[in-house]
Amino acid sequence: MSTNDSTWQDRYSASMMGTFAPPLATLVRGSGCYAWDENGTEYLDFLAGIAVNSLGHAHPDLVDAVTRQVGTLAHISNYFASEPQIELAERLQRLTGAGSAGRVYFCNSGTEANEAAFKLARLNVAGGRRMRILALTDSFHGRTMGSLALTGKAAMRVPFEPMPGGVEHIDATLKALEASIDDTVCAVVLEPIKGEAGVIPLPAGFLRRARELCTEHGVLLIIDEIQTGVGRTGAWFAYQHEGVTPDALTLAKGLGGGLPIGALVTFGAASALFQRGQHGSTFGGNPLVTAAANAVLDTIERDDLVSNAARRGEQLREIIAGLHSPLISGVRGQGLLLGVALREPVAPRLAAAALAAGLIVNAANETTIRLAPPLIIGDAELEQFERRFGQALATL
Ligand SMILES: *Cc1c(COP(=O)(O)O)cnc(C)c1O
Repeated sequence: MSTNDSTWQDRYSASMMGTFAPPLATLVRGSGCYAWDENGTEYLDFLAGIAVNSLGHAHPDLVDAVTRQVGTLAHISNYFASEPQIELAERLQRLTGAGSAGRVYFCNSGTEANEAAFKLARLNVAGGRRMRILALTDSFHGRTMGSLALTGKAAMRVPFEPMPGGVEHIDATLKALEASIDDTVCAVVLEPIKGEAGVIPLPAGFLRRARELCTEHGVLLIIDEIQTGVGRTGAWFAYQHEGVTPDALTLAKGLGGGLPIGALVTFGAASALFQRGQHGSTFGGNPLVTAAANAVLDTIERDDLVSNAARRGEQLREIIAGLHSPLISGVRGQGLLLGVALREPVAPRLAAAALAAGLIVNAANETTIRLAPPLIIGDAELEQFERRFGQALATL
């Protein structure tokens, strides 16, 4: 890929903002669950662009939908509507359970979906008495200021203070929630599984009790399913495992299968909070990205990839247990969002060893390897995972 004698690493660091760690490789092509670098080295991709590539790489149905749409009508502004946009909103009403009382707002990323949710929370003011928002310690909701204020990792927030006000971080315990929630709270914001924190599920019963308490106090329950949504956990949305419905849901990552799209879905009365002119986005919900998301959702439904995520997740757990590694203490998560818990803080070294063995996984923190493969994985990919992950473990 070099156009001169410099390495790609040199060119990257001389041109790209220093916000990211040095990249692991340059990837040039992908197909299904595999990607290749410039030297032709093959990688089994069990990260899927961080839970984004639901259908893997270059899925023919996604390629076809995007190709057709970009050659027809890519962008039109929100002064106009398009069929793919309306179709996607209707589909999300159906799949989320929001139904005809629900409404959908489209944006371009996860953090933007949470910004919209933050503004929604501010509209639940009940005459100015509700200024408090409860979020969880160690949570991750994005990098822009509102979403960062919701994010429960102080180290990410501190350099950028002051944050938008009103957010309080509590531990994910019923005791903490019960002690904090009252009629001065406008919203509770939760991840069903804290992905960036190391794939940490909410305690059993937490979501159901949070729903009860929010209803009792007139508080919006806002669930951030940017990482867990769109089939990844073996349900369309993780709250469906618990039989609860939120007042608002945020989506991004897996929804576009690689194209940038985010969404805020409101349920019931929360759908009436935003008034004309109170929020907007130039690119949000354009025909190109909504056509892509429709193709993703179509394919997930047609190929029953939600069930596949549940089944393959179980198999993946069995494979990991079967490796009998003394380094591994257990596996957290649900469906195809799994965190392999390590007894030693060697996750970055293990992820590097996996890469060298032709396997892309991610160190969510020092002691957790995150697995978020495409929802399309089958027996062949699981076999390759077993071989390559086993090989990586053997090098430590
Ligand atoms: C990734 C993520 C975000 C932020 O999404 P971006 O598209 O990177 O802005 C927010 N919340 C959760 C739970 C995420 O996993």
